[in-house]
Amino acid sequence: MGARKKATDRPEAERNLQQAAAMNQELLLSAVRQHELIEAEERLNAQLRLEMAQRRLAVDAQQEADKKYRSLFDNMLDGYAHCRMIFDEKGRPDDFIYLDTNNSFESLTGLKDVVGKKVTEVIPGVKKLSPEIFELYGRVALTGVPETVELYFEPLGLWLSIKVYSTKKGDFVAVFDNITERKRAEEDLRERETRFRTLANAITQLCWMANSDGWIFWYNKRWYEYTGTTPEQMEGWGWQSVHNPETLPKVLEKWNASIATGNPFDMVFPLRGADGVFRPFLTRIIPVRDQNGKVVRWVGTNTDITEQKREESVSQARLRLSLTADDMPLDEILQMALDEIEALTQSKIGFYHFLEADQETLSLQHWSTNTLANMCTAEGKGSHYPVSMAGVWADCLREQRPVIHNDYASLPNRKDLPPGHAPVIREMVVPIRRGARTVAIIGVGNKPADYNEADIELASLLGDYSWEIVERKRAEEALSSSELRYRRLFESAGDGILLLDADNGTVYDVNPFLMEMLGYSHEEMVGKELWDIGPVKDIETAKDAFKGLMKEERSRHENLPLKTSNGHIIEVEVISSVYMVNQTKVIQCRVRDITERKALERLKADFYAMVSHDMRSPLTVIWGYAKLLDLKSDMFDAETNEMVSAIIKSGEKIEGLIENFLSFSKMEAGKIVVNPVRTDIVALLRDVCLEIEMAVQEKKLDLKTSIADDMPKAMVDPKLIQRAVMNLLHNAVNYTPAPGTITLEAASEGSDYIMISVADTGSGIPAGEQKSIFDKYYRSDRTAGVKGSGLGLAIVKGAAEAHGGRVEVESEVGKGSTFRLFIPVNL
Ligand code: ADP
Repeated sequence: MGARKKATDRPEAERNLQQAAAMNQELLLSAVRQHELIEAEERLNAQLRLEMAQRRLAVDAQQEADKKYRSLFDNMLDGYAHCRMIFDEKGRPDDFIYLDTNNSFESLTGLKDVVGKKVTEVIPGVKKLSPEIFELYGRVALTGVPETVELYFEPLGLWLSIKVYSTKKGDFVAVFDNITERKRAEEDLRERETRFRTLANAITQLCWMANSDGWIFWYNKRWYEYTGTTPEQMEGWGWQSVHNPETLPKVLEKWNASIATGNPFDMVFPLRGADGVFRPFLTRIIPVRDQNGKVVRWVGTNTDITEQKREESVSQARLRLSLTADDMPLDEILQMALDEIEALTQSKIGFYHFLEADQETLSLQHWSTNTLANMCTAEGKGSHYPVSMAGVWADCLREQRPVIHNDYASLPNRKDLPPGHAPVIREMVVPIRRGARTVAIIGVGNKPADYNEADIELASLLGDYSWEIVERKRAEEALSSSELRYRRLFESAGDGILLLDADNGTVYDVNPFLMEMLGYSHEEMVGKELWDIGPVKDIETAKDAFKGLMKEERSRHENLPLKTSNGHIIEVEVISSVYMVNQTKVIQCRVRDITERKALERLKADFYAMVSHDMRSPLTVIWGYAKLLDLKSDMFDAETNEMVSAIIKSGEKIEGLIENFLSFSKMEAGKIVVNPVRTDIVALLRDVCLEIEMAVQEKKLDLKTSIADDMPKAMVDPKLIQRAVMNLLHNAVNYTPAPGTITLEAASEGSDYIMISVADTGSGIPAGEQKSIFDKYYRSDRTAGVKGSGLGLAIVKGAAEAHGGRVEVESEVGKGSTFRLFIPVNL
């Protein structure tokens, strides 16, 4: 700025003026300048003010932003830490100081009030535990290149995802998140995935996974093993190459439908194995869905069901065989069984041989339908030949096990096939065994692939079953012929036959003869209990008799009056026996109408009674005089005396006969009366001996006696006992040829009985006859030469039983017989 002066003189003034003027100018100028300056200054100031205002604004904004960021930082979920790195003297990151952190830092790490502190103070040991984080932070603080990592932060036991960047050299900011949960979930998933794969690889099924669109991205090991393929071949839709072209379209159609609808897939189809063989697989595919129900994956399994299928086919074949077996002749069954085995083993030939019990002779039984149609059947059906002559297929007999020849042509010892015979490529022969024996062999041949264990099993199973049918058929045939025979007998028998269920007495069957005899129809008897059917209803003892029969297993009833449908009473003889039929006890009763015989017997008995009665008195006269003559023997010559003793002997015989007739007719009339008296058995037997002696001598036999003297006197009817013993002795004499011995013995049997036995060394009685000989009128054909009435033993039995005793026989043909009478001492 210029000095201001006053204008006083002219020159001077002028000068002054000039000076003044100059000064003014200067002043002006300066004023102007000043003004300008001021203006400029003002401008500047304004500028400054503006700038300041702006700056203030900016600061305000900055502060505002800072605040905003601050709150953002504080509120953000990620942890935030601004730190300054401290390097050691060698420039290596050594520690760092927290300059700033946000709220989440605290909540995520659990570390509090860290600002201004060194990390080594906050987390002691951090350097050792987590050296990598030091390196990371140091690197970013130095280079300024941001980095992102996920790491496990050992000191805090947390998984962290960290973003690190640097705002200023030496500083770094770490923004991090706790990803422990996620990591764990991932780990879990990985573990589950590994477990799943291990499992999937361990299972025997084929297993795979596909995306929601059906693109298969994974198969288990078994898949590759079974199909013999590689992951590259299989990826996506490559699986179609192991499918059967025939079934593939259907599979695709179904699979696409499942993909479209999200429905599970279930189907059986063949898959080709590495060996080129198609096997049936049951395939199940299920969708895996997310929370929203959207299909995210498909999991598929293929289960080999060859075994099941085979069992199924075998049981179906069995069923077919069993359903038809009943109506088919054996031949056709064999052929059908062969056809089934042939089909199941994919063979083209089939033959069936029987092996006879000698295990040597084979007989060809049948061929399969296919063999008959297409192959030469040069060998005659039914032809027999020894095993040694058979071809290699008979190896299975020699080795007693199934035999497979998969390369028939290379067999060294094969027999040449007859000319024109279709070539055998391979064969399998299976023996069918029963116990230690082979009963048949089944052979099949020309399967397109090799025969294997499964084929053997199959053929054995069905073969075995076919043999069961053969056996059944044979048994049925045998049975039906024997049944037929029996039926004929049953139906044409001249005796009535009744079959009963032994358990409950129900009538099983009744033959026509019996129906006619009784006048009752089949329906009126069959299915009913014996004691309920018309003819038996009135017999009170029927049930007891049935029970008795069950105990004895055999019974014979004679005096059975049955009522026929028209009210007539017929007398029958029923012989019943129990036997087993198919584990069931059955009673067979033979019913014979003996009404006539009975009437005749009664007539006979009456006749005997009458005859003996009428003969007795003249005989007594004859005998009385003869004995008188005998007393006077010295009056006559020897010849006359002999005649007299002949009369006496015959008289005795007639008396014996008459006695028998009388006893018998009494017995028949049910009038056998015992008149007991104390009897000296010893004396009685001595008398009997005297009586029989002549007959014994005449036949040149020996009579031995052994009669115990100490026998008590018994309460018996002496006449009856005498008759009985006499009859036994007479029989012994009659049926014993000379030289022979007859032994009469008697002794006490315990304190209650006496036993009298008559033994001989004669013809003996067959076991089968021993029961019948005690029946009246029974006379054996064997002894036809000996005269007799058939009443002797019946009387012996009757007499013994009338005393409450019994008679027993023991006999051996050719050696002799012993009859024993047991008589109670006291009646
Ligand atoms: P009979 O002697 O009149 O024929 P029995 O009732 O005495 O009648 O005998 C019945 C049958 O028993 C005889 O026909 C005979 O076959 C047989 N028998 C009896 N006793 C003997 C014996 N001691 N030895 C052999 N057979 C005998």
